[in-house]
Amino acid sequence: MAISKNATSWYGDNDEDLATYLQQFRAGGYPVTRVRRLSCTLCGNATFLSLVDDDQGVAAVDCLECGARTLVADSAEHLDDAQLEGCACPCGGETFTVSVGYAVTSDNEVRWISVGLRCLNDGALGVYTDWKIDYTPSARLCPPS
Ligand SMILES: [Zn+2]
Ligand SMILES: [Zn+2]
Repeated sequence: MAISKNATSWYGDNDEDLATYLQQFRAGGYPVTRVRRLSCTLCGNATFLSLVDDDQGVAAVDCLECGARTLVADSAEHLDDAQLEGCACPCGGETFTVSVGYAVTSDNEVRWISVGLRCLNDGALGVYTDWKIDYTPSARLCPPS
């Protein structure tokens, strides 16, 4: 376990630390039972620029290698109303690895989505947006591992 915490930020060495952070963060107050690390569906690269709208519950990540955009969970459904803003670490870094935390109920419904980023520059961890899933069925939002 290499997560460290100072007054303002958590830091981690790798995506396992990011997963632990997402589980501790408990977005929405629900236990995060699954974490998925994002990789580009086109080229497999796992470093991204990240854009979020924290009001609408939308997150998009742009692959640093090929530029392809991946929309997180049900973001596509709210994209038309979203004002996406680029995520920046307190250190100024804007490139990240990305993991998505899912609070999943015992009957496999997704309750809450949280988007965790680990800064490539200094390893700072953060949940940059999270949102409630208030409809069912929602199991499709959490892809099988
Ligand atoms: Zn790519
Ligand atoms: Zn940073």
